[in-house]
Amino acid sequence: MTEITKLAPEKKHGLIVVITGNGKGKTTSALGMALRAAGHDMRVCIIQFMKGDMYAGEWDGVKMLDGRVELISTGKGFCGIQGNPYSHAEHRQNAQDAIKLAYEKITSKEFDVIILDEINNSLKLKLIELEQILGLIKAKPQLTHLILTGRDAHPQVIEIADTVSEVNEIKHAYRKDIEPQPGIDY
Ligand code: ATP
Ligand code: MG
Repeated sequence: MTEITKLAPEKKHGLIVVITGNGKGKTTSALGMALRAAGHDMRVCIIQFMKGDMYAGEWDGVKMLDGRVELISTGKGFCGIQGNPYSHAEHRQNAQDAIKLAYEKITSKEFDVIILDEINNSLKLKLIELEQILGLIKAKPQLTHLILTGRDAHPQVIEIADTVSEVNEIKHAYRKDIEPQPGIDY
């Protein structure tokens, strides 16, 4: 039988990770880190911005991780996309509430990993301010990991982050008029 090694870093770092770009795989990358962290018995909080209006599998999926991952989905869908009936002011109020919640969760020290899903595009869409993201980063306990997802990450956030990945679209099924599929797209 192969012996399994469990690595432990000599020095722990609380990382700032940004997942951005126009391809598919940003939110799911963050969810993958939540799954991975749960395996290490770490506690994870996920706050989704501009969602909350449409069911996604991760809402119940994380409940299967024995309470290690809390997920709060806020908002009323992507601001400005076709078919979304809510005003910018309404989206902004929702995003402002989500920022407040994020601050509470980050400073509660209850979590090892905090995921702020779609926060990058919330800034791009002017639902929140750059200073608010910088404030959250500043408020982060040293060893807490902070993961920020969404298209169009701000250059200053990219500059501050430790790990940044850009997911680029090579192909997406929607271009062939294939509808979003459960388990893959939501
Ligand atoms: P996922 O949640 O699947 O990881 P994502 O977070 O990278 O996707 P978002 O920009 O948040 O992508 O878009 C969310 C939804 O839109 C997903 O259902 C995803 O499949 C779909 N999507 C992602 N990229 C594109 C694209 N380039 N064009 C159209 N739809 C996309
Ligand atoms: Mg996403």
